[in-house]
Amino acid sequence: MSPGRFVVHLPVVAADLPAALRLARAITRALGFLPGMDGGGTTVSAEDAQGVRHWVFCDRLLGGGRRCPRPAGHDGPCDAPRRAPGE
Ligand SMILES: [Zn+2]
Repeated sequence: MSPGRFVVHLPVVAADLPAALRLARAITRALGFLPGMDGGGTTVSAEDAQGVRHWVFCDRLLGGGRRCPRPAGHDGPCDAPRRAPGE
């Protein structure tokens, strides 16, 4: 990290890991318009084990500098193309 940069830690409480992951995805997507937002770097942790972080998004590098927006550990290929019904 370059000098002069800071990271915002925004504690949000959830009952369990799946709920925390869902909440983190919703918050990240809702705030994605903010400059400086690094949604792919979003992690969640248990309150009493904050050094153990769980990635929220896959974030694998795709072509053209894009990153996979699907949840971490997802099934199937990264950023699977969405097909219209009937295609
Ligand atoms: Zn992926």
